[in-house]
Amino acid sequence: MLNIVIFGPPGAGKGTHSIRITEKYKMMHISTGDIFREKIAKQTPLGMEAKSYMDQGQLVPDELVVKVLVSVVERNPDVNGFIFDGFPRTINQAQKLDETLKEKNIPLDLVLSLDVNKEELINRLVKRGIDSGRSDDTFEVINHRIQVYENQTQPLLEYYQKQNKIETVHGIGSIDDIFADICKVIDKHI
Ligand code: ADP
Repeated sequence: MLNIVIFGPPGAGKGTHSIRITEKYKMMHISTGDIFREKIAKQTPLGMEAKSYMDQGQLVPDELVVKVLVSVVERNPDVNGFIFDGFPRTINQAQKLDETLKEKNIPLDLVLSLDVNKEELINRLVKRGIDSGRSDDTFEVINHRIQVYENQTQPLLEYYQKQNKIETVHGIGSIDDIFADICKVIDKHI
């Protein structure tokens, strides 16, 4: 069993590469963003609450996110490993993840950090907004999300560095080349 956090700013390619990792290594992909978007599409109360934060580029409150995350982990005791995408995003979430995994004797093996500069992120997200119509991919909201990332999420790099879990992959270039680099890192941990 291998458990990975895929880490990086909005637009770094976490979702794209998570799907490929899931297929190749037969792991379960947990994207908190996707889970909230599903709940929004179904118009559940939790989805509606999450939407009010997401549309403004704010983080959904830790309490809600952690609840959702723990329930997915608990409902899937027999998987071959998890890939956490978009979670944790705050130190508090990282601590809760550590606690939850420890309780269940699940190791966190690797934090795979995708490194992409700000200019490239903004270009990608603006393009994604035009292509997909995602309501938080507008110029103003994108800038805010990147700021939120820098303030609240980037400190996690230090948190995981202390645990010696970070491996960085350069996230610009062809998707196949980046994925090949990611696989090299993962293969070292199998
Ligand atoms: P991106 O990485 O491109 O920002 P996501 O789909 O991961 O896209 O997240 C979209 C939005 O969902 C975030 O801006 C935030 O509002 C909410 N969200 C997702 N995951 C979390 C989380 N772990 N904590 C708080 N909010 C989250």
